[in-house]
Amino acid sequence: MSRNNNGFNSYVYIPLILTFAFLLGCFAVALMTIRDDEAQDYTIANVSEFDTVSKDEKYSYVETKEDDGIRYYVLSTTEGEQAPDLVGGTEVSSSSVSSETGITKPVTKPKVAYLTFDDGPSENTIKILNILDKYNVKATFFVIYHKGMEKQYKEIVNRGHTIALHSYTHNYKKIYSSEDAYFADLKKIGNYIKSVTGTESKITRFPGGSSNTISNKYSKGIMKNLKKEVLEQGYIYHDWNVDSCDAQDNNIPVETLLENIKGSLTKYRQANILMHDTGKAKQTTVDALPQIIEYVQAQGYDIQPITEDSAAIRHNW
Ligand code: ZN
Repeated sequence: MSRNNNGFNSYVYIPLILTFAFLLGCFAVALMTIRDDEAQDYTIANVSEFDTVSKDEKYSYVETKEDDGIRYYVLSTTEGEQAPDLVGGTEVSSSSVSSETGITKPVTKPKVAYLTFDDGPSENTIKILNILDKYNVKATFFVIYHKGMEKQYKEIVNRGHTIALHSYTHNYKKIYSSEDAYFADLKKIGNYIKSVTGTESKITRFPGGSSNTISNKYSKGIMKNLKKEVLEQGYIYHDWNVDSCDAQDNNIPVETLLENIKGSLTKYRQANILMHDTGKAKQTTVDALPQIIEYVQAQGYDIQPITEDSAAIRHNW
């Protein structure tokens, strides 16, 4: 009787134990996914403190919470390997070393925000420039070719903003059909900008961002090569980590654009804010701009134009 009882109990417990083990497994996987997302959130390259690994895609700088008044940047590797000590001769505070992610260096970086406008110039450009002037802040315009907009290209430069290369055609099918096609297009917009403004720009942003998957449709895996080749050819590419999401629809309400920015800005001390300069369809981006600037500044960010020395916020997937 006692044996039968035991046998009966075991049969009851086996599925329970299996279910528990399964749930535990799910929880572990979920935890790992969260960690992974965090580690791969974004990469900052070109940061002077991190010169030894700048432009190296293998590492991610993950900002961590403040500890004893010092904010730490944790260097993590996506491959789980130990990262090299970044700064020669700098002692690494023991409290800043994470056993999970490797070497860290305590740095309190200033809060910097880059306002970036893609796909212009347009009939909105001068309106945007006037607002920027009013607040005395400089922004970055990732431009494409638009006929008859010479005045706008020149004004961007003359008023002290950064003119950067986005693409000549912005035609995914064309530019992502091959590496040669991509660089032919990039050089074409570079030459055009130089001929109109006299400025040679090495700062660029891939149409769709470096993490775009649409390019696979035209040439599978092309982004991996392009990201490497662009840097080798002396360009510096920037993605973004704060998205106004103004590209999701035409004239998204001002309040929504603001909420989108508020939702992610303060996660980063180096914030690259994505907006668009594309005329009538993005009038609300212009309307929201004063409030965006005021909010960003109220959060303690210094608004700066992107230069060749700026931190390059890059998608890391
Ligand atoms: Zn674009």
